[in-house]
Amino acid sequence: MKKAVAYLQPFMEKERAPSEKTKAEGKVALESSAPTVVMATVKGDVHDIGKNIVGVVLACNGYRVVDLGVMVSCAKIMEAVKKENAQMLGLSGLITPSLDEMIFNVQEMQRDGMSLPLLIGGATTSQIHTAVKLAPHYQGPMIHVSDASLVVEVCSRLLGSERESFVTEKRNHYDRIRESYLSRSETDQELVPLVEAREKKIKIQWDESQVSKPDEFGIFEWPVDLNEVEKFIDWSPFFWTWGLKGTYPNILKSEKYGEEAQKLMTEAQKMWTKLKDSKRLRPQVIAGFFAAQSDHEKVLVYDRAGETVETLHFMRQQRKKEALNQTHLCLADFVAPVASGLMDSVGAFVVSAGAEFDEIADEYKNANDDFNSILVKALGDRLAEGLAEWAHFKTRCKYGYGKSEDLSVSELIQEKYRGIRPAPGYPACPDHSLKLAIWKLLEVDQRSSVRLTETLAMYPGSSVSGFYFHHSQAKYFHLGPIDDEQFQISCAERRVEPAWAKRWM
Ligand code: SAH
Repeated sequence: MKKAVAYLQPFMEKERAPSEKTKAEGKVALESSAPTVVMATVKGDVHDIGKNIVGVVLACNGYRVVDLGVMVSCAKIMEAVKKENAQMLGLSGLITPSLDEMIFNVQEMQRDGMSLPLLIGGATTSQIHTAVKLAPHYQGPMIHVSDASLVVEVCSRLLGSERESFVTEKRNHYDRIRESYLSRSETDQELVPLVEAREKKIKIQWDESQVSKPDEFGIFEWPVDLNEVEKFIDWSPFFWTWGLKGTYPNILKSEKYGEEAQKLMTEAQKMWTKLKDSKRLRPQVIAGFFAAQSDHEKVLVYDRAGETVETLHFMRQQRKKEALNQTHLCLADFVAPVASGLMDSVGAFVVSAGAEFDEIADEYKNANDDFNSILVKALGDRLAEGLAEWAHFKTRCKYGYGKSEDLSVSELIQEKYRGIRPAPGYPACPDHSLKLAIWKLLEVDQRSSVRLTETLAMYPGSSVSGFYFHHSQAKYFHLGPIDDEQFQISCAERRVEPAWAKRWM
């Protein structure tokens, strides 16, 4: 635990848990008087680095932390809260379906009459989500904790003598956020009808020079050379995990974070070498390239015989834009339309650092080495993203245009190349159920051990999937709100129930 404390210094508050204040410095309270915090990543979600850091920070500050792990059902969480006599409960989630799972959780807890303070955290959670979606369903205090550096102060105020005023202040704050969100979303959501948005799609003069073809269609499993892939790793998010803000490599020289960043980097490199040398790692990369054409918001994916094997259903932006000549983007527009008579292509990929990262992290955790446990998971995430960058590079080479590209590592990380790899659940294609199409197209279940959980998170957590679009004008964008007409058309074409489809948006 000691080592974790040193690296988590930026998160540490002066204040310790109330029961500990009078006790000798440095003594970690685990006796019964220590306030208990139960923590869990909600059902269907496997991400827990942020939660684990919060857990270590709380434990180092005198709290008794009961960490239930990942993919925890609501029933199990409620049972643990009662059994452990918890004073607080931390709910965490990373992917957007977890936001809905949290709503279910707080409704169940309310129904059960629970009223202990809830701490809400995780990358996709926000003050707005807490205020609008969660707070109205729960009678007890609820606080969104945006990062680990805030958790100790929040907890000590929740347990302190001025708890009532703190809770009231937060509740009023969330009420204001909710009111302003609800009134703004009425005026802000002026949408253009789908037919009009389609007319304002991105203008591409489709001819032979605009379509892309790989040297070979099909599904490929690329063996991974870790020494090559490590050059594609973006280290900046590694430091963000630990609360050190900035970009790599400048962060190593930062006045505020430089010293800690240097030390962390040394630890990371040591561990990375150890992991590579262990020969335990089994990273996986699957990429597939298919003939394809678009039809409005759909991409029709063909097999070698020209039969449609899959239809990818994307959505088109509909928010009315102030400026003239604004386009209403849809990912399908980056693929040649059926009407052009041209055959184009699309791709998909799944990469994973492998379950070994979770196993090794658990080994450290069981040996009470929280720092190295979190470090291993953070490296797993870096490797997954590095694999995605590397696979994208190999893909561009297969398409030819990558061969003439001469980009530095930092330019690669800034994605200054032709083509994009949008990921389901991200702003251009927020629909997580698109992962089901990737799984089918790439035969992921047969070819690898990467799986989709019941809420369509990828397991192991250190995995990334997405599509490849190759057109030179392909770019990332934010879908924004769509109207019910577009949603219903999409449901009808996909032959899915609207209630089911809504879950994944
Ligand atoms: N170098 C970063 C890469 C991750 S974030 C890292 O190591 O963590 C960038 C990725 O997020 C993109 O490659 C794409 O897959 C996804 N992405 C970003 N913006 C997106 C958008 N608007 N729509 C869909 N996917 C997006």
